[in-house]
Formats: sequence, structure tokens, C-alpha cells
Amino acid sequence: MTHADDLSELERTRIMAKAALFAPPPQVLADGRRELVGLSREEMAAALAEIGEKPFRIKQLWHWIYHQGATDFSAMSSLSRPLQERLAERFVIGRPDTAVVQTSDDDTRKFLFRFRDGQEAETVYIPDRREDRGAVCLSSQVGCTLSCRFCHTGTQRLARNLGAAEIVGQFMAARDSYGEWPSPQGETPRLLSTIVLMGMGEPLYNYENVAKAMRIVMDGEGIALSRRRITLSTSGVVPMMDRAGAELGVGLAVSLHAVTDALRDEIVPLNRKYPIAELLAACRRYPAASNARRITFEYVMLRGVNDSEAEARELVRLIAGIPAKVNLIPFNPWPGSAYLPSKREQLMRFAQIVMDAGFASPIRMPRGQDILAACGQLRTESRR
Ligand code: SAH
Ligand code: SF4
Repeated sequence: MTHADDLSELERTRIMAKAALFAPPPQVLADGRRELVGLSREEMAAALAEIGEKPFRIKQLWHWIYHQGATDFSAMSSLSRPLQERLAERFVIGRPDTAVVQTSDDDTRKFLFRFRDGQEAETVYIPDRREDRGAVCLSSQVGCTLSCRFCHTGTQRLARNLGAAEIVGQFMAARDSYGEWPSPQGETPRLLSTIVLMGMGEPLYNYENVAKAMRIVMDGEGIALSRRRITLSTSGVVPMMDRAGAELGVGLAVSLHAVTDALRDEIVPLNRKYPIAELLAACRRYPAASNARRITFEYVMLRGVNDSEAEARELVRLIAGIPAKVNLIPFNPWPGSAYLPSKREQLMRFAQIVMDAGFASPIRMPRGQDILAACGQLRTESRR
């Protein structure tokens, strides 16, 4: 181990310790029954052992919970009636409460989910207009410790981290809302087929719970999403990017938004800790960064702030050699926000320069703006 490795390990330990201060409450109901959603396979085995069941039962239970979407033990026809009853005495298979659902004119659907302790977070389903599929945008925290200037979530202090049960629960409840579980005829769900960790919060400041949740959704006997269908967006928590790459290998999106440290320090304050050069070095190390699995650089287009042609040229110089695409996000305003979206011509000129340098530069069309469901518009009233 080099000195630098030791330092990042220390830094990771510090980040994990801070995350633990904002840990979610245990998933136990007032009557003492425990939540099964969000347990790892090992934890589920231990829970079953408590009622004298052998580990092989997990396979069946896991299938019912995560493949079929069952929430009621009595529907689990492959389990004997007495076992169903014993399970129901000790455990539940829950979902967060849906406090509000809104569907946008463009079919984007936003959920406000309420968890057992009353904390709330938002989840957005974004259907693909051309195909019958779409992405579920999950929150990882209630609020955020960072305060990126252009982000509505950034105006809400961190209330707490979401647990694995709550992260997977958002996805499962969204599937419930579309009846998207396999039919008895065996048809597989298609609509809710990808996950983006781009909702409220910084996923790499809640790494343990996010990682646990992603392992559950990737498990081949349950929801079985491939890592190619999952993208984690970070504002640039460098030491945790290495861990996520090594352990999860999901797609990575990086919120770059500026090409000089002076500007990025101001609009993405985390840059003061992990400046652009370190961030890009971590991107170059990221294992999934091959041509098949490019890193996405997110760049919110703020009028007159970061959208000049000179900045576009600097951007492509900075990321040269990284298998990447650049997702240009028109700024989405929210009540009290201080920026304007770039003018359309400016956006096009910027995109052209990036494209001419050989990077795909899709413009992320705002979705669900009418219901404040677009990027950076999520916020709840929850407080610590
Ligand atoms: N905390 C993570 C993930 C959540 S934000 C992160 O920052 O990457 C998902 C994306 O939306 C990020 O790129 C974020 O910078 C961007 N974003 C935030 N506020 C926005 C706004 N008002 N308009 C457009 N994009 C915004
Ligand atoms: Fe937090 Fe991401 Fe919003 Fe920044 S952009 S405040 S990191 S949620």
C-alpha cells in the first residue's frame, strides 16, 4: 500500500463514520415484527434461523419478495400454510407509504414516499418516449449535506440517510404503481427497467446502504437488474468512487458542471475538497470506464455562468482520453433559484463543440417540470 492508498482508506473510514451518524432507524414495527425487504441474503438466513427454518427457504422467499413482488405471506403458494403463518407472526414485507403521486403532462410520475419514522423522499419514474420502458430515479438521502448552488435538494439540510429497505422500497413501490411484476403467465416487467441514483442526496455519502440496495436489485433470483442498467450519480466523492467501482461496477455519472476550480468551488462546493484534477483522475481509474460503459459527465447549463464556447473547448481538453459522454442538462428552475437556463443557441453551440471532439453530447430534455420532478427540483419538508 502506498501512502496515498492509506490516506484514501482513512478518508473512507471518516466518510463511513459520518454516514453512521445519520443512520436510518431499525426496520421494526411497533408490534415487534421485522421488515424483510432490505435484508441481505445472510441476514435473511439469520432471520429464518430464528424461527427454526433452514437457509434453503431463502430461495423461495427471495423469489416471492423480489421476483413476484408479493407483500403477503399467504400468497406464497410454494410455502406450507403453517410456515406462512409463522412468517407472518414475525415479519412483514413492506413498502413506503405513498403520500402523494403526481403524473406530469409528459407522463413522468413523481412519488412522495413516507417512511416509518415519518421522513419523506421523492422518487421519479421517467418513461422513455420511444420505447415501452423507462428509468426510476431513486433518492439516497433525505436532504443533502452538500449545497450545490443550482440544486433544490441542496437547500434542504440532511435529515438522515435512507436505509437499504427504503432505497429498494422506492423501486418496488414504483413497480407496484404500474403493476410491473411478472404476471402468472411469466411475462417479465419492462417499464421499470433501469435505475438511476440521481434523486435526493449524494449516494456516495450513504455508500453502505446504497451498495446493499444495489446488490439486492442486481441479485439474479429477484429483481435481477444487470449492473448495466444502473447508474450512480455523484458530485465527486473521490475516495468512494474507487470503492463503488471495485465493489459494484455500476455505471457512473459525474456532476462536473464547471471546468475551472474557481467556478466549481463556488457552484459545487465539494470541489474544495476534491478538485477537478483529482476527480478526473478517479474517473480515469474507474473500472467500468470502457467504451462499452462510458462515464457520463453531467453538465448543467447555466446562462452566462458556465456555458461559453471557451468552456466547451476546455471541457473536451480536460476529459480527453476518458471513454465518456457529456450529458448537457438545461438548468431546471425552482422557487427561489438564482440562475437562468442557457439560451437554446448557446446550448447547441456548446453541444456542437463537444460532439466535434468525439464525445456524444445528448441534451437531457427536462421531464416533469410542471410537477417539479425534473433534475435538481426535488425537495421535501422532512427535517431531522
Ligand atoms: N447528488 C448526486 C445525484 C443527484 S442530482 C449528484 O449531485 O450527482 C442529479 C443531477 O442533477 C446532478 O448532476 C445535479 O448536479 C443535477 N442538478 C441539480 N440541480 C439541478 C437543476 N436545478 N437543474 C438541472 N440539473 C440539476
Ligand atoms: Fe446534493 Fe447532488 Fe443536489 Fe449537490 S446536486 S446538493 S450533491 S443532491
